[in-house]
Amino acid sequence: MNILVVGSGASAVHFAQSALEKGHEVTMVDVGRERPAPVRPGDSFEDLKRNLDDPVAHLLGENFEAVTYPGGEGEFYGFPPNKSYVFEGITPFQVRASGFAPLVSFAQGGLAEAWTAGVFPFREEELADFPFSYDDLAPFYDLVARRIGISGTRDDLAELHPVHDHLLPPLDLDEHSRVLLERYEAKRETFRSLGVTMGRSRIATLSEERDGRPACEKLGRCLLGCPTESLYTPLVTLRELLKHERFTYRGGLFARRFEYDSSGRISVLVTQHVRDGEEEKFPVEHLVLGAGTLSSANIVMESWFEETGEILRLSGLMDNRQVLMPFVNPRLLRHPHDPETYQYHQITIGLEGETPRDLVHGLLTTLKSASIHPVVQGIPLDVGTSLWMFRNLHAALGLVNINFADRRRKDCYVTLGGTSLVTRSRAPALRIHYERPAGERRRLRRAKRRFRRALSKLGCFVPPRMSHVRPMGSSVHYAGTLPMSEKDEPFTTTPDGRSRDFENLWIVDATTFPFLPAKNLTFTLMANAARIADRAF
Ligand SMILES: Cc1cc2nc3c(=O)[nH]c(=O)nc-3n(C[C@H](O)[C@H](O)[C@H](O)COP(=O)(O)OP(=O)(O)OC[C@H]3O[C@@H](n4cnc5c(N)ncnc54)[C@H](O)[C@@H]3O)c2cc1C
Ligand code: SF4
Repeated sequence: MNILVVGSGASAVHFAQSALEKGHEVTMVDVGRERPAPVRPGDSFEDLKRNLDDPVAHLLGENFEAVTYPGGEGEFYGFPPNKSYVFEGITPFQVRASGFAPLVSFAQGGLAEAWTAGVFPFREEELADFPFSYDDLAPFYDLVARRIGISGTRDDLAELHPVHDHLLPPLDLDEHSRVLLERYEAKRETFRSLGVTMGRSRIATLSEERDGRPACEKLGRCLLGCPTESLYTPLVTLRELLKHERFTYRGGLFARRFEYDSSGRISVLVTQHVRDGEEEKFPVEHLVLGAGTLSSANIVMESWFEETGEILRLSGLMDNRQVLMPFVNPRLLRHPHDPETYQYHQITIGLEGETPRDLVHGLLTTLKSASIHPVVQGIPLDVGTSLWMFRNLHAALGLVNINFADRRRKDCYVTLGGTSLVTRSRAPALRIHYERPAGERRRLRRAKRRFRRALSKLGCFVPPRMSHVRPMGSSVHYAGTLPMSEKDEPFTTTPDGRSRDFENLWIVDATTFPFLPAKNLTFTLMANAARIADRAF
């Protein structure tokens, strides 16, 4: 079979790898901005500050674009300039949003080139709205774990995050995370009676060498982009695909729409060269969209609009609401901080909800090497005193990123609207609208109270008025606009991700997820894409 795949993100590359393993021919069409080569790959974060000619330009940008200014949105870090290629837009793709702050990637590897590598399988209860069971997905969690390398351990969190095969030993803990976990162990029964479960994060970062990628060397520059690729990103898989003789990669192409006949059979994918806007058409035998939820929905809507003149509204857009809760651990005041440690979260906290689907999921990151100015400027003293205070506080600081589940609702949707002024094309720009669910404020208040309590049992305190509800869209876990379902309804897909409207179209990204648990979804995206390649082709 000849399969044309759009995108090179987490879902597209794992679909393509499985399709190749089954003997198919795969052509991948991708905008695919390229990642800049890593600077001084053997240097740690501290070495970079010492060795680079202009470390400020590297870490904060030529025009200080990575600086988080006072009075900003309450974010505690900005993306470093060398990651800007991940989020850079392109002229033919215009978005307008209300109630939602979207991020879209046109990079090779997609958004996960900037991810924090947290990987958490969904449980049976969280898959209740999916038209397949955990047992159907489990072999593909195992498969993807073997491909990408996941560190972690079987601990209390196994009740919340099923344990798959091929789990590597956990990474070494930083001192602060170790102190917190010891405290949890000592008071385990108290925590469990409060509905709080803690343990080691599952992370797609190697604790042992695998397929030429070294184990994490604790360079402390994960946020800048791991220079050794110990931390997995989809580009690792894309490079493997490029070695395959039945694989063709066509970068620099924006997939605009497809053409189909009256029976819904797609004949052609219409693309546009990003460089000069020139059109190129690809004949289609089987088309697979893995361009990310917003972009895949846009391609379907533009295709429909071009053929019928009708503007679709696809409802059910979901994302995880996130709250950032900084905390201080007095036991670590005036401790030296160790810059040569893994930078991202090493602890996960689960908070039981009314039902298993209402689990609240917290990722706990202790502060290590980082851009410290967003924290320092929050201390209400002069710069000298604030810096002195920060140095004494550094090792004692941490942040919990609290995630909430979302459900498909009619009033959260994507559609097309307003002719794009930039492209002047006939097709309108993508429009997104998101409404807060009823009772959300109350739910957030209650969860924040429970997290403050849990942190206090860990011996920490949460400084008043510093927790921050992030705008919807910030978690970048978008899903739900063309759901998989058993029911044969328009603008849904079969359990195998096959469109019910277009005979030879499959969708392998989170566009088809009918429910979004509080967990990071990318591991499930990859497993589901591999499942579709295995079951449908
Ligand atoms: C800062 C950050 C941290 C994150 N941390 C985590 C985490 O810890 N755990 C987790 O599970 N998830 C995390 N995520 C989310 C994760 O990155 C996404 O879920 C995942 O990348 C989505 O993959 P995708 O395959 O749907 O497509 P995307 O990543 O959106 O990739 C889209 C691909 O399609 C291409 N493309 C798009 N439109 C077109 C078009 N029209 N024509 C041609 N090509 C196109 C792009 O070039 C790109 O290759 C994080 C995201 C961010 C931004
Ligand atoms: S994962 Fe982070 S700490 Fe580990 S080697 Fe890569 S950059 Fe360094």
